[in-house]
Amino acid sequence: MTNPPLYEGKAKKLYATSNPSQLLLSYKDEATAFNGAKKETIAGKGELNNRISNLVMQELHKHHINTHLIQELNHTDSLVKKLKMFPLEVIVRNISAGSLVKKLGVSEGKVFDSPILEFCYKNDDLGDPMINTYHIIALNLATQEEIESISALALQINEILRPYFAKLQIQLVDFKLEFGIDDEGKICLGDEISPDTCRFWEMQTKEKLDKDRFREDLGNLTESYRVVLEKILSKGQ
Ligand code: ADP
Ligand code: UDP
Repeated sequence: MTNPPLYEGKAKKLYATSNPSQLLLSYKDEATAFNGAKKETIAGKGELNNRISNLVMQELHKHHINTHLIQELNHTDSLVKKLKMFPLEVIVRNISAGSLVKKLGVSEGKVFDSPILEFCYKNDDLGDPMINTYHIIALNLATQEEIESISALALQINEILRPYFAKLQIQLVDFKLEFGIDDEGKICLGDEISPDTCRFWEMQTKEKLDKDRFREDLGNLTESYRVVLEKILSKGQ
């Protein structure tokens, strides 16, 4: 890419294309955690996330979920619909892990009877604080109707992906989604669904196959992401 990106985030760059309603999403090899405090370049990570996210979004297309993915362009880059993003991180949890364990004192690995849905305000300066629907409406981040649609979509995506990964002998512990509005005015899933944004545990061994390998200095990050990709390629199509 010769033109400067429209936006460079921690894990991806967004470039304009000749079509004003489309963007090129380019995955970087950067790994960050703890709101950017821990940072490292991990060769090959961008390529793995691009491929995994696209395969997962293609699976969602089969279930008529509207995602931004148009086409994978090469190993690290994809063409996507340009969205007007809600400044929200939508988190779905099936099993306790991460911040929930720290915040609520639940032990790691508790399987919930029903999924937990959380919203965070996407704002790095504030450390992406958790907010509720009253905050979202009062701060004009989304309307009541939009929150209801986003919540229903997030739970529907969980109902599709939990059994999809279970078939691959992977537990979908929790994950983060981001939504936006497309140029037809419809709510659309954006960003990525990858081991950077999901917790994946190998079903039998409970081995972590996601960014916790980086957060917790467990090593073998790309090897673990490759296990996820290989499982999807071998059985998830
Ligand atoms: P961050 O901004 O948190 O550092 P990334 O490095 O992943 O994260 O940057 C990707 C950015 O692109 C995010 O801010 C995300 O909200 C935004 N984004 C993702 N998909 C789209 C899309 N289809 N249209 C517009 N913006 C998008
Ligand atoms: N997550 C993410 N980006 C964020 C925060 C969370 O992709 O900025 C994902 C994270 O990978 C996990 C889920 O959302 O799959 C729940 O994360 P948690 O709240 O436990 O956050 P942590 O503090 O552990 O990142």
